[in-house]
Amino acid sequence: MGRGKYYQPEIERMSRKGLRELQNERLRWQIRRCLTKSEFYQEKFKKAGLKASQFKTVDDLVHAPFVTKQELREEQVKHAPFGRYTLAPPKDWRELHPSTGTTGIPVNTIWAEKDVKNITEVTARTMWSFGVRPGDIIQNGFSYGLWVAGMSTHYAARQLNCFVLPIGASMTGRQIDYLLNPGSTVLLCTPSFALHIAENLMERGISSKQLKLRLGSFGGEGGTETAATREKIEKGLGIDAYDYYGLAEIGPTFASECTAKAGLHWAEDHHVIEVINPETLERCAEGEMGVLVITHLTREATPMIRYWTNDYGRLDSAPCSCGRTHARSVGGILGRADDMVIYRGAKFYPVQVEKVVRSFKELGDEFVIELTRDEKTYTDVCTVVCECLDFQEDRQALERRLQKNLKEELMVTPEIRLENFGTLERTTFKAKRIMDKRK
Ligand SMILES: [Zn+2]
Repeated sequence: MGRGKYYQPEIERMSRKGLRELQNERLRWQIRRCLTKSEFYQEKFKKAGLKASQFKTVDDLVHAPFVTKQELREEQVKHAPFGRYTLAPPKDWRELHPSTGTTGIPVNTIWAEKDVKNITEVTARTMWSFGVRPGDIIQNGFSYGLWVAGMSTHYAARQLNCFVLPIGASMTGRQIDYLLNPGSTVLLCTPSFALHIAENLMERGISSKQLKLRLGSFGGEGGTETAATREKIEKGLGIDAYDYYGLAEIGPTFASECTAKAGLHWAEDHHVIEVINPETLERCAEGEMGVLVITHLTREATPMIRYWTNDYGRLDSAPCSCGRTHARSVGGILGRADDMVIYRGAKFYPVQVEKVVRSFKELGDEFVIELTRDEKTYTDVCTVVCECLDFQEDRQALERRLQKNLKEELMVTPEIRLENFGTLERTTFKAKRIMDKRK
């Protein structure tokens, strides 16, 4: 149980040098066991001409091949049902977590007994870092079904002696009822669901002052660290809002913001975080944007060595004002490589559109990026669809201003379509921002 400001001060405030030594030692253990027990890794490393003895420090990781999600899928098909990278003996298996995703068959991830313990520990640490304390009433709006974050935060809430409401990602009306009575103090869900709850509170004429809610942490999609979104969530619910991150193959809720709101802190005692330039496949310098590649240092059942997450971010190991030494991704995760829109040579992410749309007080929070094809000219057309909050006297002027601001952010000019408030679909889970209607 944590005391004072830190949950595990000896780990959270460890010197960078001490942390690096711990990582090196754990990496040697992980590589040795993978190359002894897993034919999957044996084949990969043999093909690259690499031996376990060549990996002494995390810097040596740059020689190791990446693991991609597609590769894991193929491995599971060939060596059904769990692939040859599943190492722990079946008697130690405790939970199966298939990864969600809009494309392809799910990838199965297994948590062994020890993994569940570590995941609970790390999640409790993140929750403590953004201010959860014993006695809090935690409204857990993360999905308990297919998504991993419901279970990890549930276990961690128990670990922290909190009272947890396992409501999951549904039922906006019931969510509001529980916010009123018993009066949840902590809300966990996706940022789009948080905005949806805030919108519904307003519609029901309930002021955030009537709630006991103190704070919330929001993950599953980017956006919480976008200034306009954070402000809307904080004002709408009367709370402090923090960013949360995880992914099925690596783990749920293992990175979060601390109360300094200065980017996602990584748990470097359990993971090696690398940022890789997707073109050169070399490590980026600190602060440079690239693809996050993550290695498990302690995972037993389905260990990943250099897992290519497809998520873009940057890394900063400068000390945080909170006193924790673990590196951060400032600005959060920009987006999945799959979510990138390529339009007339420009590349952009939905979070960039979100940043602009939510800076307009005349517009609602929802938006969709629609991709269509102009049959006459055979060119792609990208339209940003938003909602006007009230009757706008001069919609055209508003459209022009929005288009101008979007052009500055995206480096390309999308078309604009303004709809009436309430037209676009609301979601309780991850919002679908890109509608690709091209044939
Ligand atoms: Zn911090």
